[in-house]
Amino acid sequence: AAMVKETIRVYARVKPLGRRQQAGIYSVDDDEKTLSSLELIVPRDLADGFVNNKRESYKFKFQKIFDQEAKQDVVFDSVAKPVAECVLAGYNGTIFAYGQTGSGKTFTITGGAERYSDRGIIPRTLSYIFDQLQKDSSKVYTTHVSYLEIYNECGYDLLDPRHEASRLEDLPKVTIMEDPDQNIHLKNLSLQQATNEEEALNLLFLGDTNRVIAETPMNQASTRSHCIFTIHISSKEPGSATIRRSKLHLVDLAGSERVAKTGVGGHLLTEAKYINLSLHYLEQVIIALAEKNRSHIPYRNSMMTSVLRDSLGGNCMTTMIATLSIDKRSIDESISTCRFAQRVALIKNEAVLNEEIDPRLVIVQLKKEIQELKDELALVTGKQRTSELSQEELLQLDELIETFLEDNDPDSTLDVGADMRKIKYCFIHVKQLMNRSKISDTKLLSQRISEEKGTNKEAGEEELKKLKELLQQRDSEINILVNMLKKEKKKAQDALFQLNATSAGSTVLEKSLSINLEESQSPSSCFSLKEAKDFSSSVHRLPLLSRQTGGKMSLGCQEAFEVFKQDHGDSITIEDNKELLKQRFAEAKCLGEKLNEVRNKINHLKGEITQRHIQRAALAVSSPSEELNMLDPVEEKLRTQIEEEKNRYKAMFNHLKGLKVEIEHLQLLMEKVKTKLQKDFEVWWSEEAINLQQKKPEMVSSPNTVTVYPQFIKSLQPLSTNSFSETTRVSPNEDPVEKNNSIISSNTALKTRTPPSSSTSIPLTGDSQADADILAFIKARQNILQKKGKSCQ
Ligand code: ADP
Ligand code: MG
Repeated sequence: AAMVKETIRVYARVKPLGRRQQAGIYSVDDDEKTLSSLELIVPRDLADGFVNNKRESYKFKFQKIFDQEAKQDVVFDSVAKPVAECVLAGYNGTIFAYGQTGSGKTFTITGGAERYSDRGIIPRTLSYIFDQLQKDSSKVYTTHVSYLEIYNECGYDLLDPRHEASRLEDLPKVTIMEDPDQNIHLKNLSLQQATNEEEALNLLFLGDTNRVIAETPMNQASTRSHCIFTIHISSKEPGSATIRRSKLHLVDLAGSERVAKTGVGGHLLTEAKYINLSLHYLEQVIIALAEKNRSHIPYRNSMMTSVLRDSLGGNCMTTMIATLSIDKRSIDESISTCRFAQRVALIKNEAVLNEEIDPRLVIVQLKKEIQELKDELALVTGKQRTSELSQEELLQLDELIETFLEDNDPDSTLDVGADMRKIKYCFIHVKQLMNRSKISDTKLLSQRISEEKGTNKEAGEEELKKLKELLQQRDSEINILVNMLKKEKKKAQDALFQLNATSAGSTVLEKSLSINLEESQSPSSCFSLKEAKDFSSSVHRLPLLSRQTGGKMSLGCQEAFEVFKQDHGDSITIEDNKELLKQRFAEAKCLGEKLNEVRNKINHLKGEITQRHIQRAALAVSSPSEELNMLDPVEEKLRTQIEEEKNRYKAMFNHLKGLKVEIEHLQLLMEKVKTKLQKDFEVWWSEEAINLQQKKPEMVSSPNTVTVYPQFIKSLQPLSTNSFSETTRVSPNEDPVEKNNSIISSNTALKTRTPPSSSTSIPLTGDSQADADILAFIKARQNILQKKGKSCQ
């Protein structure tokens, strides 16, 4: 139903003979059931003039032939009304009149000027269409009209209001634009809305008047131009997003007359050329369309064929009226017109229903539907629902998912209610979790693979050797730490002993202390629950952490150094100097800022003086006076100000110089103390290590321990830089202490860094209780130190 395949319907209309015209011989055989036929007889004297056409009788078939007396209403009813009905239904339609000048094209399409009954197809169609629109209340219609004139391949908008004021040539040309889908659009052709018949008729009248104005005897516009009056209708059922759009072209073509070329010797040649070039291209298009298997149709050759592209072999119901003058002298033109009509009658068109869906209307509809559904949902659930979950809801969901994932009960379910948003969120959340674990799995796998790859024997043995050495180092470290712990315990016991001696009565205190000491024998037990928890997680993390950081000092050694540092007498000096240095540095910074301020001020004052000079110079030129030659009191004042600031500057600068000397001195001092401290520690550490070697059996140690001394010292070396920078984390440019550190790291003899492999991880003893104790101890010490470091800064 949406497509109508049809050949172009072709009608003929014979114009009444003028008073002084001699009639040619013709006959009309009008049969209601079949096609009508028209016979034209060429008189013998005339036929002799033709070279190739010796025939006398020519017969042509038409849909219907309107003879001289046929009235406009009859023509409208049989020719235009069916087309108008199709257009109202949403199909495109075209009616065009073709014939020589004076044959009645304009009379048929637009009508005669004298009588109301002479109204042509355009006014009658408009009347009919608006009548129908008014009758049909089931749809909303919009109607527009446009009126295009094509003259010499140029398009003009006959409804352009500027028409009256300007010449045809000065008006903006209507041009053809083709979109990617090869649809034709006309630029500069106005679409005027016409809400009723009267408005539409006014527009038609306006266009026709414009056409007459533009016409001069020279341009003969009415015979040489094509006029296309188009009615655009769009319709839509209320509430529907589907729009039907259709166009009805009512076309008054240029006169089809041809020039019969006169051959050598005055003979007429059969092939006559169109006066109007675009009609020539129209014929080419029609010939091409009538040919079978012709893929290229030369629509683009002329503007008229481009505009009427759909009407000719496209999406349109097209009708042609061949207008014929039947006087004797017009007989050959009439034959040409009829021949042209016969070709046109072969053209097949495929008219489709022009329906499109307005996305805006679809959106409006969908929005309405969504709102209705939301309301319904709100009714059912008792809750208003927005498109996004609230922060609170998201948190709740996170919790639900977590408990669900942690729940080992196979029967546990994740119940978020019948809310698609929540369900979707859960899936996304779980997906993310899965992806994350996949990534870490592959990481682990690739790690394992790379580890396995290295298990060719040599590499394996080397690795084993390294690990053994490392194990020995760590054993020593651990033993030293345990020794230190014991010493501390002993110190505390001594203190307790003294306490007991002085205040023998306080048994409660004694008891509590002894309990504490009892607990402290197992290193882990002297830490709070929180620390123990920290430790439990660190058991898994530490080896990885040290692997990642690489090349750092072993934690045990660092730990020992920290303790050593605190017990060392020089550490107080270091701390004091640090404080002093900080103070001095702050002072220097402050002074530096002030110096800058003064410098700026001086510059500013200088600028003012220059400004003053310029002003006075300008004044001296414009109005010379005695006063201007004298000293400027303002300038004098500025100069004394500058002098004062300069003095301040000098004083501050000297102060800063003094500070710098002091800072440098302090830095040197600290450097010395730190180097000494390090050396002392190294000596102590190696002594401890040797001691441990000698009384090894009692110590917690791995079964394979051998002499570790040389490597051990080596692994100690980066200690200095690492442990210092651990305690002072300040930006390098500002902190003199940090600056000092960098001096240490570059000035001391300990320049070489240990290869990462020798101190990358903490091998454990294998005895799980001992391991746990050691690690807990290390962790707790670190915590304390960190807190200390923070409170220092
Ligand atoms: P064309 O537009 O083809 O050049 P017109 O429509 O201007 O021809 O017709 C030329 C003259 O003949 C006009 O004066 C017109 O009124 C008159 N005429 C044409 N056809 C008819 C007709 N069917 N009945 C009466 N007069 C007609
Ligand atoms: Mg005309």
